[in-house]
Amino acid sequence: MLEEWKGKRVLITGASRGIGAAVSKQLGALGAHVAVHYHSSESSAEAVASTIRDSGGDAFTLRADVSQSSEVRRLIDDAAERLQGLDLLINNAGDMLGRVSLDNMDDDQYSRVLDLNVRSVMMASCAALPHFRRSGQGNIINTTSIAARNGGGAGAGLYASAKGFVSTLTRNMAKELAGERIRVNAVAPGVIATDFHERHSSEAFLTAACASIPMGRLGTAEECVGAYVFLGTEALSGYVTGQIVEVNGGQLMP
Ligand code: NAP
Repeated sequence: MLEEWKGKRVLITGASRGIGAAVSKQLGALGAHVAVHYHSSESSAEAVASTIRDSGGDAFTLRADVSQSSEVRRLIDDAAERLQGLDLLINNAGDMLGRVSLDNMDDDQYSRVLDLNVRSVMMASCAALPHFRRSGQGNIINTTSIAARNGGGAGAGLYASAKGFVSTLTRNMAKELAGERIRVNAVAPGVIATDFHERHSSEAFLTAACASIPMGRLGTAEECVGAYVFLGTEALSGYVTGQIVEVNGGQLMP
């Protein structure tokens, strides 16, 4: 069933660390040709690509700031050129860019959060369409968040709303593109132990989070991987589109 991954042409944004790195390594191990995108973590991205090559897969790295439309378009076209087409786009790059209270909100923070988490997904997806159309089919998996449904913690309103946008866009694009054999789904991680929380969450926040998770612990990046493999595998999810797969230890049961 997973044979179809051999030679599948995949671009994963934000693949240098955390969830994107874990997904990249697994897809590479399954035989995919992986474009490992990064922004600032070049050596980590190179390590991901080299792990994939060591496991017998094929991978290379590409740099772009995905909050800039021009860089996103170049990223997609470069990846498709080097992969000789594109079968799967995983829009995973994103960040909260700080917990900012409503009292301290300003235009700059608004633009930075929306550009990174929303503009990137919209522009990358649109830029991928001509490449999908050339193949006669395509697949997009967006990384949204549990925050899209629960509103996020204090100071995370913009980020949570941006992820709400991503979830809604996922459903809209799924409808608009279904007739062209392009599926669009998303994965919504809960609280996953990555650098994201090293930057944004206190010990007290994470302890409180654990207490609200029925499984009693944070998730790992590796535990998110299965959802991406499921959504990326035609044989497993060929009739699934417009869905959000929640990976959260039971913290939210929508
Ligand atoms: P992470 O370890 O901090 O990784 C974030 C990734 O995004 C990195 O690869 C980073 O690239 C990339 N990135 C950040 N800013 C970028 C920019 N301007 N242009 C291009 N790439 C950029 O975080 P993670 O936890 O794996 O997060 C991955 C995704 O899951 C994000 O969309 C995040 O919002 C979402 N998410 C995470 C959690 C969680 O609990 N961890 C929960 C729900 C959703 P460089 O390092 O190369 O700059």
